[in-house]
Amino acid sequence: MNSELDKQITYLKGVGPKRAEMYKKIGVFTVYDLLCHYPRDYIDLTDTVPISDSALNETVAVKGTVVRKLAPARIRKGMTVYKAVFTDGTSDLTVVIYNSEYLFSQLALDGEFYLVGRITGNLIRREMSSPLVFRADTPFKVQPVYRLTEGLSQTVLRNNMKNALDSFGKYIYEPMPAHIRSDAGLCAMEYAVTNIHFPKDIHCFEQAKKRLVFDELLILQLAMAMLRSKGRSLTGYVLKEKNIDEFYKSLPFELTNCQMQAVSDCMEDMQKPFPMNRLVQGDVGSGKTAVAAAVAYFAYKNGCQSALMAPTEVLAHQHYETLKGFLEPLGVKVALLTGSLSTKEKSLVKQGLENGEYHVAVGTHALVQQNTRFKNLALVITDEQHRFGVRQRAFLAQKGSNPHKLVMSATPIPRTLAMMIYGDLDISVLNELPKGRQPIETYAVTGKLRQRAFAFVSKQLDEGRQGYVVCPVIEESEMALQDVKSYANKLSENGFDKYRIGLLHGKLPNEEKDRIMRDFKEHKIDLLVSTTVVEVGVDVPNATIILVENADRFGLSQLHQLRGRVGRGQYKSYCVLITDNVNETTKKRLKILSSTSDGFKISEEDLKLRGPGDFFGDRQHGLPKLKIADVSHDLDILRKVQKTAELIIESDPMLEKGENKGLKELVNRLFEYANADDL
Ligand code: ADP
Ligand code: MG
Repeated sequence: MNSELDKQITYLKGVGPKRAEMYKKIGVFTVYDLLCHYPRDYIDLTDTVPISDSALNETVAVKGTVVRKLAPARIRKGMTVYKAVFTDGTSDLTVVIYNSEYLFSQLALDGEFYLVGRITGNLIRREMSSPLVFRADTPFKVQPVYRLTEGLSQTVLRNNMKNALDSFGKYIYEPMPAHIRSDAGLCAMEYAVTNIHFPKDIHCFEQAKKRLVFDELLILQLAMAMLRSKGRSLTGYVLKEKNIDEFYKSLPFELTNCQMQAVSDCMEDMQKPFPMNRLVQGDVGSGKTAVAAAVAYFAYKNGCQSALMAPTEVLAHQHYETLKGFLEPLGVKVALLTGSLSTKEKSLVKQGLENGEYHVAVGTHALVQQNTRFKNLALVITDEQHRFGVRQRAFLAQKGSNPHKLVMSATPIPRTLAMMIYGDLDISVLNELPKGRQPIETYAVTGKLRQRAFAFVSKQLDEGRQGYVVCPVIEESEMALQDVKSYANKLSENGFDKYRIGLLHGKLPNEEKDRIMRDFKEHKIDLLVSTTVVEVGVDVPNATIILVENADRFGLSQLHQLRGRVGRGQYKSYCVLITDNVNETTKKRLKILSSTSDGFKISEEDLKLRGPGDFFGDRQHGLPKLKIADVSHDLDILRKVQKTAELIIESDPMLEKGENKGLKELVNRLFEYANADDL
């Protein structure tokens, strides 16, 4: 924005080097950072309760007068207790303060104050320990509550923030062109920053919040748009139109309409003079791999190589087998490149990729990290994209001379969100399952019915089918969750000894995982007990039942993914969700799952119920963390922002106009942050 705001936080009155160190822990280095440290909550001082009505253990705000101050009592070395009697006319309250003479001195005798804190003691003698204290004449009836770190208190932060606003508020810069601001009905930036911290009233707060949410989302959208146009300015391999009918004919099934559409979207993209940047978003089981194979075949017909990256060895292996099955009969040579190959094998594969002997490489990110060279890599496909960050995406894109990129994601995301997370990508949606799939019957039950569930599993296994059991943890823990390791005992107590049981979890060596997965695919294992390592992408059409333990521990979309491990073939399939946690939210969530098999609908409901954690948790998407916007609640603003961003970009793709200078600076800040954060 400008250099004044970029001054170190130590420029502020009351912030020395020691405090600056504390601020660093919450990511605050400069005055600008501090001003962007928005409150996590607010205390509404207009919402006071009469002391006589306050309930024990409740956190409340009361307003009254200090009527008596008692002499400090030293209860032991280094611990002094200060007490004052406070009344609001309805009842008295004893204020208890440990060690802070400063806080005690603030409570002037006969002075009028607001106190905010938890009511303790008993209903005859109420107490409040270490309350927040505000003078009754404070003009700020809504007080901010900040995220803190050790050594920083709300009071200190509030005071520093007031100072920052007083001395630096005048430097707050308006990044938004006036016409956009007035179109969107947004308040001015300085007003927004001031009122997000110290709102005069709820209306001011709402105005401020709307403005800051709008800005945050807008900058993100603009950043995505710029990434996209940067990608567009480079030339990739311009492929020629080719007929791939022989591929379609050799498939054991007919592609669905949306698979066909996705393939032709990709082929069209790849004939353009700039690299494809496309996301194929498909519900579990919608057949994304076949799309990938078709597109790789198209590249092959153009004399070019493709690479497919999977997030795990297990999946890389599976894709390798699938692609080989589809493509080798047509003369395409497919190589597998994973971390568990021997050095010699690896170098042979790499040689083959460099001299063009292999046409398609399938692998884990070993493919990215090690210096693999290709003869003419025209297409990079990444599967289950939500596990790869923006940075990895960018890294891969540097291989070869700007190859086309195809991203496949099995996490259905509502469209608005997809635009936000994948704003730099074009999207094809697979919203239709292959013919002949039967809906998966889903039941949510408590542990009391486990025996019956087991009986049901046995029945499936006896019929020659296979099944999965998913546990939330690997080993026994204090949380009384079902775990993979002791589950075998439970099964053998229930007559499962006659079946071949496999145990799979993330702590096993890769080769071991691979072997177990392969055994399961080849039906050398009947029942696979695992953690969520099977969550993504594993395809065993003979599996017809999945039993999920402690189902309440998983996100809805995740459960939907897990359920998608069955129902992938001709047999009727079942999903049993076991949980003893029967609170209303859990019930509601699991009910959604039993009532629909539409992944998009499920993710939308999940978003409403749980907030965006599922998508934005763990930052898997590779986006910077949002400071103030909450995409599950701010959808209306998000839509407006998307329109606004389109308008801006349309007339000024690289934000070069003078009026967009402020926005551009903020976008650059975001990129800097993204780099620094090693996304
Ligand atoms: P996902 O989209 O979950 O990655 P896969 O690509 O693993 O799905 O495909 C799921 C299963 O459906 C595979 O066994 C695949 O061979 C099969 N399949 C894919 N497309 C079709 C289709 N059009 N008709 C019938 N089966 C299909
Ligand atoms: Mg898949």
